[in-house]
Amino acid sequence: MSLAGQTAFITGGGRGIGRAIALAMAREGAAVAVAARTKDQISDVAQECSGLGASALAVELDVTDPQAVHAAVRRVESELGPVDILVNNAGIAISSKFTEITLDLWEQHLKVNLTGAFLLSQAVLPGMLARRWGRIVNIASTAGLTGVAYVAPYVASKHGLIGLTRALALDVAKQGITVNAICPGFVDTELTRESARRITEKTGRSYEQAIQTLARFSPLERLIEPEEVAHLALYLASKEARGMTGHALVLGGGP
Ligand code: NDP
Repeated sequence: MSLAGQTAFITGGGRGIGRAIALAMAREGAAVAVAARTKDQISDVAQECSGLGASALAVELDVTDPQAVHAAVRRVESELGPVDILVNNAGIAISSKFTEITLDLWEQHLKVNLTGAFLLSQAVLPGMLARRWGRIVNIASTAGLTGVAYVAPYVASKHGLIGLTRALALDVAKQGITVNAICPGFVDTELTRESARRITEKTGRSYEQAIQTLARFSPLERLIEPEEVAHLALYLASKEARGMTGHALVLGGGP
């Protein structure tokens, strides 16, 4: 499953799932662009990737800014090489009662979780189409396939991301480019810890009880490790996965 000679662009690469994917791809020999807004985090991850012997670049980027997205892709192409693998992982999840969701909160979710993936995909596709090779991996969620209470903007944005995955996969299926989504259950990252803290505030349950509540969404009754998501992303990015496209693969969610 070697990714030697390939360049991977990972959004939200500064921590959590994105960090695990960046490290896994670096370990497999890819040059890695680590993009997000928090400079210290992306610099640290890029440094960790370099420590594994990979070429790595920290790219400060807000995925909701169309101009910045195009500039970031051009920079990566000139400093690391054409983008062969795009991982749309940047995401936010803020819970709220439906009646208290502001328009701003709704739009923020759609912009980061859905429009960001659209913008990045459009920016890298011309190069992929010219080379007739490419891998796009969208980190969706089980919330992209089913309803979850108190996170309507998140659920809507992730359903949209799966729709984008399926439609784009068909557009480019004959041109050597695959587009797939990974749908993890709750993963042990800052995003999940923040959700647990919010449950604690709202319900008075302890932090550990809140984590248990989230873990029980999965039949495994545990949180998924970021590295488990990274392994699946590695497979989808590999040459061996050339027959897999348009799928939304559940990880830890059960049947
Ligand atoms: P984290 O909060 O740990 O990491 C999210 C990453 O996205 C950070 O690097 C953050 O960096 C980045 N990000 C957020 N907003 C933007 C933006 N506007 N522009 C660029 N980068 C941005 O979350 P996870 O690692 O848990 O989540 C990663 C993905 O996996 C998300 O899409 C999430 O929805 C999905 N997922 C997570 C699950 C979980 O249980 N944790 C379950 C299923 C799916 P910064 O803030 O510095 O920009």
